[in-house]
Amino acid sequence: MLIDAHAHLDDEAFDGDRESVMKKIREKGMIVINAGSNIETSKFSVELSQKHDFIYACVGIHPHEAAKAGQNYLETLKQLAEYERVLAIGEIGLDYHYDFCDREIQKKVFAEQLELAKELGLPVVVHDREAHRDTLEILQKSGVKKGLMHCYSASLEMAEEFMKIGFYFSFGGTITFKNASRPKQAASKLPLDKILLETDCPYLSPEPRRGKRNDPTEIETIASALAKLRGVSIEEIERATASNVRNLFGRLTLTGGRNR
Ligand SMILES: [Zn+2]
Ligand SMILES: [Zn+2]
Repeated sequence: MLIDAHAHLDDEAFDGDRESVMKKIREKGMIVINAGSNIETSKFSVELSQKHDFIYACVGIHPHEAAKAGQNYLETLKQLAEYERVLAIGEIGLDYHYDFCDREIQKKVFAEQLELAKELGLPVVVHDREAHRDTLEILQKSGVKKGLMHCYSASLEMAEEFMKIGFYFSFGGTITFKNASRPKQAASKLPLDKILLETDCPYLSPEPRRGKRNDPTEIETIASALAKLRGVSIEEIERATASNVRNLFGRLTLTGGRNR
């Protein structure tokens, strides 16, 4: 079974035709884990998971949104996490590429949500863009034991450190880009039992559709790119990544999707 471990089907890019995209996903027999970026999209993510048996949700505040988190955001996230189809707190983390939000606020909101994940015994889904050192340091201090570095872009050496904490890594469209040597290196060298597939749609469409709207069915292109990088069959990638998703997200029951 192919699983898109990180998607944003709540994004306005899908407002015009979300139901037809959902139909396409259902027909493929896939599972999609949809990540919230703020309170509103976290709620929407939970709604999608209630409506479709092939969607699971994550709830969290993205670093871009950290300054707008609001007074009671932790309480709201806690309530949302009570839904059993919520698998993790995410996406959370640090983004020093865009710096849309003051770094100190990013760090504070990241650490607070890690604390919440620890309290709830849930894994986390982490966004780290050009903030590898601080991300690692905050995770090491947090006491969180399991999580996913989504769209992993740091070095193999740092991956060793993230693995010591208990982290997995997901790869998406970037492993099909010509100039993306780091993600390609990590995707080809990391242990296969630590790797997940993601689209991060509507962003990061794989080649040859780079720049166009991405959607979860592109996971097939990404799976085949990963198979090629590692010199194994797509079936092996499919089997390994599905089992990794199960190991990482304890709440996932895989009742949705077609069994194969
Ligand atoms: Zn992200
Ligand atoms: Zn994302």
